[in-house]
Amino acid sequence: MTSILVVGSVAYDTVETPFGRAERVLGGSASFFSLAASFFVPVNLVAVVGTDFAQEHVDRLAAHNIDMEGLQRADGLSFFWEGRYSFDLNARETVRTDLNVFQSFRPRIPEKYRHSSHVFLGNIDPVLQQEVLDQVERPRLVALDTMNFWIEGRLDELKKALRRVDVLLINDAEARQLSGEWNIVKAARAIRALGPRTLVLKKGEHGVLMFGEDGSFSAPAYPLEQVFDPTGAGDTFAGGFLGYLASVQAQAGAADRGYDDEALRRAVVMGSTLASFCVEAFSLDRLLALTRAEIDERFRLFKRLTQFESI
Ligand code: AMP
Repeated sequence: MTSILVVGSVAYDTVETPFGRAERVLGGSASFFSLAASFFVPVNLVAVVGTDFAQEHVDRLAAHNIDMEGLQRADGLSFFWEGRYSFDLNARETVRTDLNVFQSFRPRIPEKYRHSSHVFLGNIDPVLQQEVLDQVERPRLVALDTMNFWIEGRLDELKKALRRVDVLLINDAEARQLSGEWNIVKAARAIRALGPRTLVLKKGEHGVLMFGEDGSFSAPAYPLEQVFDPTGAGDTFAGGFLGYLASVQAQAGAADRGYDDEALRRAVVMGSTLASFCVEAFSLDRLLALTRAEIDERFRLFKRLTQFESI
């Protein structure tokens, strides 16, 4: 059955933007990813939280087609992250990261998740990302997210993980760092040679650039009049991207169908659509109130935004 297994952080965030401050609100890469993906297919979540984590937050995610059996509870406090944005919302300062129970996290994949058709390895230690892959039965598609911390500190393990991955989602600075190439086209070629068939480069308010077997594709970020809080936009993009792709593959049937260039392009725009909603409010607030009709309407506006005739 089509479903996405996601492993990542479930957290409390404190976020300050020029427009306000939110204290200890629900966050984490797996939370944003799951909620976005859940509009398309069922999601199986694996993460760890501490004894301070409110049942109300578990219930809120569970109400959205997200299976929470894989949420481990450990003695101690939940992962906590604090960030601050200036008026340039692309520049973020991390004020504080408390790993807490995340520090000794070992992902345990419940039996019923092992046949998930799609896997999203959120930004965690590449050793743990490989442990997750060791516990699942031949998924149809594996996507991975990482960051400079792991590229600097765990490069060999990250490269091992990448050999087992179909789609890598990172930002442009991380792509340069991972490949050692300044030019982004050369960087993409070098990274794809490490394993991933498809590389998706996230560039914040400048949109997304995808490199694949059929060349490259670019999508802008949706021009919003009010960007309130960019936290989680990258993870929300990944959830919309993979969720949509999984739903297309579910309909396509046969092994490699639904992974063609047209489906990938629509997945990029769907990811960008979901991310554009995420940034309209703090935490998961906008995604929790979102409807499929609103998603489809903005997807339509996206097409209009980028369409032009030949000369
Ligand atoms: P994004 O804005 O897409 O990079 O995601 C922000 C989310 O990632 C926040 O909700 C944080 O709780 C979470 N986060 C921040 N730093 C880390 C980290 N080192 N590991 C895992 N999750 C993190």
